[in-house]
Amino acid sequence: MVKKIVIVGGVAGGANVAAQIRRDDQESDITLFDKGEQIAFSTCGMPYYLGGIVNKRDHLLVSSDKFAAKYDINLQTNTEVTAIDRENKTIAYRDSSGTEQTSYDKLILSPGASAKKPALEGMNHKRTFTLHNIPDMDAIERFIETEKPRTCAIIGAGFIGLEMLENLEERGINCTIIDHSEQVMKLVDKDMADIIEDHLETKGVQLLLDDGLASFSNNGTTLHLTSGKSLQADMTLMAVGIQPNVKLAADSALEIGETGAIKVNDYMQTNDPDIYALGDAVQTNDLLTGTPRHVALAGPAHRQAFIIAQHLKGGDTAYQGVQGSAIFKVFDLSAGATGLNKAVLNLLRIRYKEAVHETRSHAGYYPGAEKICLKVLFDATDGRLYGAQAVGREGVDKRLAVMATAMKANMTVHDLPELELGYAPPYSSPKDPINVLGYKAESMLES
Ligand code: FAD
Repeated sequence: MVKKIVIVGGVAGGANVAAQIRRDDQESDITLFDKGEQIAFSTCGMPYYLGGIVNKRDHLLVSSDKFAAKYDINLQTNTEVTAIDRENKTIAYRDSSGTEQTSYDKLILSPGASAKKPALEGMNHKRTFTLHNIPDMDAIERFIETEKPRTCAIIGAGFIGLEMLENLEERGINCTIIDHSEQVMKLVDKDMADIIEDHLETKGVQLLLDDGLASFSNNGTTLHLTSGKSLQADMTLMAVGIQPNVKLAADSALEIGETGAIKVNDYMQTNDPDIYALGDAVQTNDLLTGTPRHVALAGPAHRQAFIIAQHLKGGDTAYQGVQGSAIFKVFDLSAGATGLNKAVLNLLRIRYKEAVHETRSHAGYYPGAEKICLKVLFDATDGRLYGAQAVGREGVDKRLAVMATAMKANMTVHDLPELELGYAPPYSSPKDPINVLGYKAESMLES
């Protein structure tokens, strides 16, 4: 039977699910709505366009016409879906010519998340930005080009804040980064974050931790902090987190989970089996613990798109849970984490041990060996892997990928010394840092 499939949101989750469905299903009628002008753009590349590393805006974009033609999709951009009528299986949408409705057999929600921008006294919206989509990116670029800011305050030292820090500094803009936490990048534990903070210091970045933005004055150029300090900044970037876009789902009585995101089952179905959801808007379960988790990353959205597409054609591959593997670059350092960190393990009252190994990324006598710090968090008795983190200048992505794979394969610390990861002096040592980390962790197990 030819189905009518309607998709809301056309970036990582929405565009992907549309393409995945079409690959195996030439018959169904697929309509994709996005309230923005662009679809399928590379969100993750935006900081690098702003830093001038990606030198053409077009490199981040996909032609809507080509996408629609390639996948035979009825694409409606600049069109916001405003309501779902589950009983009659219709949605209402609004474009420049007014409000209309259309029916669906299957509805897929990928509305993403929105960047938080707390309303603070004195904020000047012309010089205070978020970075979540192409219009945000264009607004920042325009401001930099026309106003030539020399200083920027970045509120939030998560991965968007830190990536933007590097890229704005690349443009010659002097940044101060402010975060109410006691460390940067809460994805990793404090000792790993210390390495990043030391690196920021060597780059001359002013870092204000344990402090927050309270208000602005002076046309939005003076920032008053909760500590009582103040500073001047020509522009401010708010990188204080995101909230999943759940209004459409909540208004139509789709279940919202305890993390505040849309609750889905293993096939990415909401509590209405004809409505699926994916991406930044959904809550899935943690791969290891099965506890609810909201992870806003591109990799999970892509996998979830596959799960939905195969379920629609009668398959039963389940989404196995989210690991939260993430990596980012800040100046000369790379940092990444997979699984659970100490803060989460403590919150879940899971008893764990940690082993840390600081070494060189490859044989010390071969030029270019750089310091790398690896950490594994594991069950104190059976050595099950709970999480891993890595920070360094070289070889971080490789070690993170190995640890993420080991976790997915249910390995324990006993397996880490046994991994044959390939050695030659430019790449590693005969005992890879991961092998040594495993030996260390094994020796810490309680009998
Ligand atoms: P989105 O990509 O946000 O797409 C949602 C779309 O839905 C939007 O276009 C929106 O206009 C549309 N929409 C919402 N509501 C409606 C409605 N009612 N009607 C019609 N359309 C609607 N992840 C990584 O894994 N690695 C990275 O390096 C990385 N870097 C990032 C850098 C930045 C600056 C940002 C902001 C994010 C980054 N991410 C990264 C996260 C990643 O981009 C997201 O996880 C991913 O884009 C989520 O996809 P999505 O489809 O759920 O949501």
